[in-house]
Amino acid sequence: MQVLLVEDDTAIANSLGESLIAAGFEVDHVATGAEAIRAAFGDVVLLDLGLPDMDGYDVCRAIRAESDVPIIVITARGEELDRVLGLELGADDYVVKPFGFRELVARIRAVTRRARSVDDVGDAGEGDVLTVGPLTIDRRTHRVTLVADGVGSELALTPKEFELLAFLAEDAGAVRTRTDIVEHVWDANWFGPTKTVDAHVAGLRRKLGNPAWIAAVRGVGFRLDVPE
Ligand code: CA
Repeated sequence: MQVLLVEDDTAIANSLGESLIAAGFEVDHVATGAEAIRAAFGDVVLLDLGLPDMDGYDVCRAIRAESDVPIIVITARGEELDRVLGLELGADDYVVKPFGFRELVARIRAVTRRARSVDDVGDAGEGDVLTVGPLTIDRRTHRVTLVADGVGSELALTPKEFELLAFLAEDAGAVRTRTDIVEHVWDANWFGPTKTVDAHVAGLRRKLGNPAWIAAVRGVGFRLDVPE
């Protein structure tokens, strides 16, 4: 598995790179955002947010504009808002410095496994397409289309927003608990702030153009409904 490590701190990059190689990964290391954007992304990108030349968030956004490669953000910034922003920009997961190497490897395995399972859906049949009223979610092409006033338009969702919407749509009208959502959309081993779920729900509501699409059931979770 090929890892693109984007880290300007030489000491961290060297020790992390050596550990990753010892764990069986192939590592390509760059120290700036500009190099990261031009590099081959490989199977997973480990992206330090504090880079000398560019804001890590911009790097994240630029990579995501080009590729669906899983991105794990490495951050020293502990603020929850920053974490949520990192995920909203299309990162798949994050670790906060200092982090344990085993934790990092578990996260790499989790995000790359999910990326593969999305790819593998490949040539399956109509089970890939979920339709909820005017909303169509195609897991095979990873596209979401919403028909409004007789005109269909494609929604630009982040990978996590897509997974969240698809998970809710699999059983539209039923309540999905926060725990179920975190386990299915993120990972059973994901210990991030539960506010992240709310942030993604808010993003989806905005992109769907009507907050009534996703009803919050107080103390339980969320439900996808066709707005009246
Ligand atoms: Ca740094």
